[in-house]
Amino acid sequence: MSAVYLDYNATAPVRPQAAAAVARALQVGGNPSSVHAAGRAARAIIEEARGEVAALIGAPASTVVFTSGGTEANALAIESAVAAGARRLIVSAVEHDSVLEGARASGAEVEVLPVDAQGVADLAWLEARLARWDETDGKPFVALMAANNETGVIQPVAAAAALVRGAGGWLHVDAVQAAGKIEIDSRGMGADTLSVSAHKLGGPQGVGALTFGPRATLSRRLHGGGQERGRRAGTENTPGVAGFGAAARAAREGLAALQAQAGWRDAAEARLRAAGAVVMGADAPRLCNTLCVASPGHASELQVMALDLAGVMVSAGSACSSGKVKPSHVLGAMGQGELAGCAIRVSGGWASAEDDWNRFVEAWSQVHDRYAARRRAPAA
Ligand code: PLP
Repeated sequence: MSAVYLDYNATAPVRPQAAAAVARALQVGGNPSSVHAAGRAARAIIEEARGEVAALIGAPASTVVFTSGGTEANALAIESAVAAGARRLIVSAVEHDSVLEGARASGAEVEVLPVDAQGVADLAWLEARLARWDETDGKPFVALMAANNETGVIQPVAAAAALVRGAGGWLHVDAVQAAGKIEIDSRGMGADTLSVSAHKLGGPQGVGALTFGPRATLSRRLHGGGQERGRRAGTENTPGVAGFGAAARAAREGLAALQAQAGWRDAAEARLRAAGAVVMGADAPRLCNTLCVASPGHASELQVMALDLAGVMVSAGSACSSGKVKPSHVLGAMGQGELAGCAIRVSGGWASAEDDWNRFVEAWSQVHDRYAARRRAPAA
């Protein structure tokens, strides 16, 4: 029987449309900056993909800057805000490390926007903080992700945008996990900058994008040629961008169908809860594909390894840090410190089937029954 892959929030399998677009672009060859026919063909591939990514996130194509991924897109937003005079950055406690660490590395002061027990940002805190903003700290910069990678919890971004805008600030939205899973209207939600990444929605790894609104000035992140309208020098990753564009289109077209997966997730969740598991962010709006669930007393890594042996691939919290297991700052910020070491993340996506979730539940039940029996057995 084939293995079950339920770790889409780490990386989604590449969609066939994206793989085909990458292969086509590799065959075209050509440097998009060259004026000859091959160069023009490569340029056309990039611009078509830009249009697809723009359509996915509700942004004008001219404001989409391709990067090497979500991490670089987040860095570009943060560095641009600091270059534009932000000296104090407010970042939500549940941001991805690329935002938290990027903010800390920027040289600016960092303040943490707390979340409640469900993982939802405390907007009353934000409002109060912005009301006593000291202008010597430059314009306020706030980073609030659209949806969390570990719990799937969806943040009240539009409401935060109204507060930030009222204070004359800059709102950065990391939509890396949300894009392709919920509708993203970057302009409608009031984001000044918004980041996305291809590999989370069925495109290749190593390519992402940042869109920016009229109130944000992007600085030059890489110097050299004038690519990406001078905002990011370096010959474009044409095959990667082509794959991103194709994946963005497929994700947009499949958005409504994907929502049906919430039913599979909910059914699995109900069975795990009945067996004593604790679901993180259960009372908050969540992405349809994500389940973060803790089994008190059963270490996350042990669960992940046992499930892997049973042919089911999931992860222990965020898998972005090269296999290193560290306590989840997301669950910690939600006050779930005790359970954080016992939580796993299960995430489906475009190629998942209901049977994948059923097989996960069966494997999970066996793994947990075995573990419980071992704990009950008297020591030899
Ligand atoms: N932001 C979020 C919310 C993520 O989940 C990730 C990756 O897991 C990133 C940013 C980083 O994206 P990339 O892997 O494309 O650098």
